Amino acid sequence: MKIRLDQIEKSFAGRQVIRPTTLTVEDGSFTTLLGPSGCGKTTLLRMIAGLETPDGGELWLDDTCVFSAARRIDLPPEKRGLGFVFQDFALWPHMTVFENAAFGLRAKKDTKDLQSRVREALRTVRLEDFETRYPHQLSGGQQQRVAFARAIAVHPGCILFDEPLSALDALLREEMRHELRSLTSSLGITSVFVTHDQTEAMSMSDRIAVLNGGRVEQYDAPEVIYHRPATEFVARFVGKSNWLSETELFRPEAASQTPAAGALHCELPVRSVQYLGDSYEVTAPYHDTAWTLRCGQRIKPGETLSVYIDPSQIIRFEK
Ligand code: ATP
Repeated sequence: MKIRLDQIEKSFAGRQVIRPTTLTVEDGSFTTLLGPSGCGKTTLLRMIAGLETPDGGELWLDDTCVFSAARRIDLPPEKRGLGFVFQDFALWPHMTVFENAAFGLRAKKDTKDLQSRVREALRTVRLEDFETRYPHQLSGGQQQRVAFARAIAVHPGCILFDEPLSALDALLREEMRHELRSLTSSLGITSVFVTHDQTEAMSMSDRIAVLNGGRVEQYDAPEVIYHRPATEFVARFVGKSNWLSETELFRPEAASQTPAAGALHCELPVRSVQYLGDSYEVTAPYHDTAWTLRCGQRIKPGETLSVYIDPSQIIRFEK
């Protein structure tokens, strides 16, 4: 399913929380809405779902206009053919895994071949042996999989994920990232994923929309967002940025301790050192900012670090 937002906007109590936004989510892609708390990610997702009504603009799912302020179109959520996975999984505690996974189909009164469709969804998430259990008898990751099975059982054109991994511990979270991504890819389902976690966004997405104050600052592939951030906000929000001036920065891996022809050379006092396993992360002051650098050997605070920056990797902005 292709999703097209055309000048979609939203205000609450006279405050505009989504500025007019135009954005296309390609069919079968995994797209993330990334930004700090309060930037409008969930509001944008809820407008696609039909759970929030935009004040203006149009919203298209494939060739169907599901919302148009001018033409007074507003298709209810159940007619949009979308699936949802929420942060708290939203499972019914008194229902078994099977009944929870069947919930969407029953709610739509779409009960033809219900048993086989629910079993197929449970098999996809490797929970076929858990049908008769209740949510409290499952781990966090398994509950998350039930929520996913419920979403895919209705065969949606798109799944909307609202911070679905944030209730999980760090290790499980990383595992579920891979699992969710490979499941949505193998099913070919368009996914729109909300998170404020840049690592999650970078590792899972085909494209990321970085939001700031209700505005999409950049909409690009993760690699482009990282290496060619369009604005200062994006550069600061995604990855570590080391500022050379108000309009120039480099990422930590653009610097090394080995002299290189044409490199920009600095000698900096080390402020702090953190061991990362494969390298050391060093913080060193530079004018009124601090740089984050990688170092192959242990170095102590107070010692001097020689830094050689590859000039071709310096990122520049127009102020
Ligand atoms: P978070 O990561 O904290 O969930 P978010 O980026 O998803 O944040 P939204 O939940 O979309 O942000 O909220 C955007 C802004 O709109 C916030 O300032 C929020 O307080 C406000 N807001 C959201 N829903 C409502 C509502 N129903 N009534 C009034 N204000 C709202």
